[in-house]
Amino acid sequence: MTAPLIDLPAAPAPTRLWTPKRVLVTRAAAEQPHTAEILRRCEAAGVEDITLLTNDRLTGLRGETERETYARAKTTLAVVVAPPSALKPQPIPPSADWRIDLAKGCPAHCQYCYLAGSLSGPPVTRVYANLDEVLDGVRTHAGLGTVTSGTAERGHEGTTFELSCYTDPLGIEHVTGSLAEAVRRVGAGRYGDGVSLRFTTKFDDVADLLAVDHQRRTRVRFSVNAPELARRFDGGTSPLAGRLTALRSLALAGYRVGLTIAPVMAYPGWREGYADLLDQVGLALDGVPDLDLTTEIITHRFTPASKDVLLGWYPHTKLEMDEDARTQKRSKFGGVKYVYPRQTMAEMRSWFSTELASRLPGAPLLYWT
Ligand code: SF4
Repeated sequence: MTAPLIDLPAAPAPTRLWTPKRVLVTRAAAEQPHTAEILRRCEAAGVEDITLLTNDRLTGLRGETERETYARAKTTLAVVVAPPSALKPQPIPPSADWRIDLAKGCPAHCQYCYLAGSLSGPPVTRVYANLDEVLDGVRTHAGLGTVTSGTAERGHEGTTFELSCYTDPLGIEHVTGSLAEAVRRVGAGRYGDGVSLRFTTKFDDVADLLAVDHQRRTRVRFSVNAPELARRFDGGTSPLAGRLTALRSLALAGYRVGLTIAPVMAYPGWREGYADLLDQVGLALDGVPDLDLTTEIITHRFTPASKDVLLGWYPHTKLEMDEDARTQKRSKFGGVKYVYPRQTMAEMRSWFSTELASRLPGAPLLYWT
């Protein structure tokens, strides 16, 4: 009997698994080898309503009302082929040199969702069946990139690829298998040893990832927030405690890990709330050998389009989206977003710099935005 490469920690039980009510497979996707794995996983998860479409158009996503359309879309997994436009990696500052999308859309219900306003149509989750082509972007762009490559702080990570721009890849992993396969291929050195993957998640089903020989070439960040904000706004995700247990398990399995603290909100009592969060993280990671932990902080912002979409999805939300309490910022393409005023930003930034250094020493802040 051969000894295992690494001493794997036991996988904690996941606190939430998303299982779609229906799966739609386009004709082009049905021909892709990875689709068989997706369907195997869906059947194992108990999905009975699987439809092989006769063409490549997704239909029947809309219900009678907007509410019904939302509910239908959020319980549907569409297996599609990524179009050529989605196969070309794009720079994604400040996170990574390049963005690679394993899927588009997310089944969770966060009331501030970053995807609101950036994806059109019903919020269905589309997983890409042409995984080989999607991941080929890692091969073609290895050694290129200027966002983190060549920087003093992060150049040692090699060419970096972000997998969670348009989805939560762990949230759909037990019915797709795409994420573990990407981590495995990069770990096996299929694209050379100068590349690394990164993704962020609000889910905690890490059993598959614990079993992968990742070679420390993937950084898993958990998206976390002050406990009361996570409880109130992160619908359909794993509770914070589950995410922190998963963080510990992955760190013990040798993964590089991280926190995406987002969206940071200046609510009454924010200092106590975020102090509690940082202390919970410290406890969760206590005693982990060779810990490589980074932090990234994204403050809450919204655009006119995202506010519209979010109020359509969550009409009773208590999320503050008051233009008068914010500062307007224009992008170089003329788009408007509403961020916290300069003074509030400065206060929060200074607080986090001090408290991160004292509560999570050795965890560099990669960026604040
Ligand atoms: S987990 Fe991320 S992508 Fe999914 S609903 Fe929440 S904010 Fe949106």
